[in-house]
Amino acid sequence: MTKKKKKIPLRLCIGCQEKKPKKELVRIVKTPENEIKLDSSGKMNGRGVYLCKDEACFDEAFKKNKFQKSFQKEIKNHDREEIKKYFFEILQ
Ligand SMILES: [Zn+2]
Repeated sequence: MTKKKKKIPLRLCIGCQEKKPKKELVRIVKTPENEIKLDSSGKMNGRGVYLCKDEACFDEAFKKNKFQKSFQKEIKNHDREEIKKYFFEILQ
C-alpha cells in the first residue's frame, strides 16, 4: 500500500510556466493602491503572481512582459528595480 501524499497547493510560475509548491515560490502583488510589491508574507491584498526563487524566472517574466499582462499595469523601471531588490534579498 502506498502512503497518500498530502496535497500541496501548486502555483504557476510566470517565468518558466511550471507549477510548483506555493512555498517554493515568491508572490508579487499589485496592491489596491496600484503599487507593485513583493509579498513575503503571502497574505497581502491584491492581485498576485508567483515566481520561482530564481533569477532566470525573474528576468524571463520581465522580458516577456508577464507582469504588465497579469497586472494590466505598466511596469516602470523604478518598479522593476524595487521588486528586483527585494527579490534578491529573498534569494539569499
Ligand atoms: Zn519559474
